[in-house]
Amino acid sequence: MGEALFRQKNGLVAVNIAAACGVFTPGQFQGLAEAVREAGAGALKLTSRQTVVLILEEDKIAGLAEKISGLGLRIAPYGNAIRSVKACSGGPGLCPRALADALGLGIELQNRYMGQDVPKDFKIAVAGCIRGCTDPHCADFGLIACGKDAYRVLIGGRGGSPSPERGKVILEQVRSSRVPEVLDFVLARYRELAEPGERLCKTVGRVGLKEFIPPFIAEEPAGSLQDDEFGEFLRSGE
Ligand code: SF4
Repeated sequence: MGEALFRQKNGLVAVNIAAACGVFTPGQFQGLAEAVREAGAGALKLTSRQTVVLILEEDKIAGLAEKISGLGLRIAPYGNAIRSVKACSGGPGLCPRALADALGLGIELQNRYMGQDVPKDFKIAVAGCIRGCTDPHCADFGLIACGKDAYRVLIGGRGGSPSPERGKVILEQVRSSRVPEVLDFVLARYRELAEPGERLCKTVGRVGLKEFIPPFIAEEPAGSLQDDEFGEFLRSGE
């Protein structure tokens, strides 16, 4: 696994920092601002992957990495690794259209999988409804809430590419508690079947979607999300 450090034409280095699917506590924001100021960067930019990027002199990177590690943040993975997870605002406390706790699930998946080695970059996106604000159709592994704690699962999407691909549905009505089983299955098949450096959409196109469909039975949705669940999460503090 590599780190998301990108040398610029002027010799400076862009450093990409991951938080919990774009959620920062006030303490993390404050600590990050101080660390960035000390490192000599003038600004932070939000990215489309819900990370932040800043430009630094190379010799400041190690000090910055140490400081953000103390804040529970890290330099995002890059290369042939599972990347930071994109998750939408999820619960109805922030988005009234949410059918399930997409943000909570996204954070759980990021904590569990981010940085794992895979044949090629692997992106996960979770959306709380069919509107898909996090582009789950363009992810290697996309999840779309279609009921209370029930997700549609798509694989093999690819965005940010001159040849974008739309993901294909492999399962419907999967409870959040069973999503890791599905992802483990897809990752195991991908590692087994992919040629070196092959993106999942290519592997799926070569060997067929059936190879990636876990022997799961569609489930009835269960549970319900309380109206203030997301607000409670955000208020849970540092
Ligand atoms: S995908 Fe749906 S639930 Fe998520 S932010 Fe967009 S509209 Fe809201």
